[in-house]
Amino acid sequence: MKIGIPRETAAGETRVALVPSMVSSYTRAEHEVLVEAGAGAASSISDDEYTKAGAQIVASAADLYGAADVVIKVTPPTPAEVAQMNEGAIYMGYLAPLASPDTVKAMVDRKVTSFATEFIPRITRAQSMDTLSSMATLAGYKAVLIAANHLGKIFPLLMTAAGSIPPANTFILGAGVAGLQAIATAKRLGSKVQAFDPRPAVAEQVESLGATFVEMEVPEEDVETSGGYAKAQSDAFLIAEQKAIAERLPKVDVIITTAQIFGKAAPILITEEMVKLMRPGSVIVDLAAEQGGNCELTEAGKTIEKHGVTIVGAVNLPATIPVHASQMYSKNLVNLFKNIFQAEDNSLDFEEEVTTGACITRDGAIHNEMVKEALSAGGNA
Ligand code: NAD
Repeated sequence: MKIGIPRETAAGETRVALVPSMVSSYTRAEHEVLVEAGAGAASSISDDEYTKAGAQIVASAADLYGAADVVIKVTPPTPAEVAQMNEGAIYMGYLAPLASPDTVKAMVDRKVTSFATEFIPRITRAQSMDTLSSMATLAGYKAVLIAANHLGKIFPLLMTAAGSIPPANTFILGAGVAGLQAIATAKRLGSKVQAFDPRPAVAEQVESLGATFVEMEVPEEDVETSGGYAKAQSDAFLIAEQKAIAERLPKVDVIITTAQIFGKAAPILITEEMVKLMRPGSVIVDLAAEQGGNCELTEAGKTIEKHGVTIVGAVNLPATIPVHASQMYSKNLVNLFKNIFQAEDNSLDFEEEVTTGACITRDGAIHNEMVKEALSAGGNA
């Protein structure tokens, strides 16, 4: 098959879906790899490096889409890009189907079989394909560096001839993949770190990284889905959580919020009144900004100052570290590809859990029931 890697066209996107060192993962299996000219430039990869790795450079997006049997991409394609794909082509990458109904419709019209990495089931076997986890790891790391940059203090304890400086206090809300990496990074920089997550199983992981797990008096609720995600909490839970967070705010320098509920708006954990409790010069980095934010004042994509506190509405942080983000994304997609194309004749097996779980469109229809229901409720399918 011909595998096409287009240049990303979304604003601010610097990643590429395949790095040269992984071209051979496809060519070894007798596939051809086509890369659009300049596709790697924003990740500091030249066309020449792709050619040396065994890929063929294609001059334009139209030529690439016109030739590819399988398109592998980072950000969801636009409907116009889908229209350039071959009828019956296969798409693999982020798709955000609920946020991009027009793209899903274009895929149905073009009979594109699409696999969305966000829908890969969260089973142990699929961890190596999980782009959400690899990108969340990078976001958690970068969030701490951004906070450190905005804070007018240093993170570590210093005892010098010029006096002693206490360590910064960092509070991480949500200790999933991004939160745990944020804890590890803040600890490495020397901060004192505390964290909270409604999933009790996380406490041990938080403590193993040297942070304190904050015990909160919140109502007992069923907090975890069978897929490992957090369930949406009740208003009573969130009010109790806000109260417990508020008590700690006057002593905190940095807050990194990562709390998300799959498919829903992010829970509000910090209200405007709570921001007023923070010391002037403190910093909030809100990794849930794109889902509405965990802080009431967050503005996605903007850094603002309110009540003396800097609030960073972090968006697509992996794109600020494109070299490793592209490398990790490439590896995830190679693993997904190998899982989907297990048969010698490249036929697809929709009985297989990851293949059917990640598939959004197929044979001119929406394959995923949840997406079908959501889009038909919105009048889009
Ligand atoms: P996520 O991005 O959906 O959410 C981030 C974190 O926010 C979660 O830990 C969640 O519990 C937390 N959260 C939700 N509501 C909150 C609230 N009110 N206050 C504070 N925190 C809140 O989740 P994620 O980080 O992608 O993954 C969560 C977990 O899923 C992981 O820790 C892991 O155990 C599991 N997982 C499994 C696989 C796999 O097996 N393939 C892959 C990825 C993740």
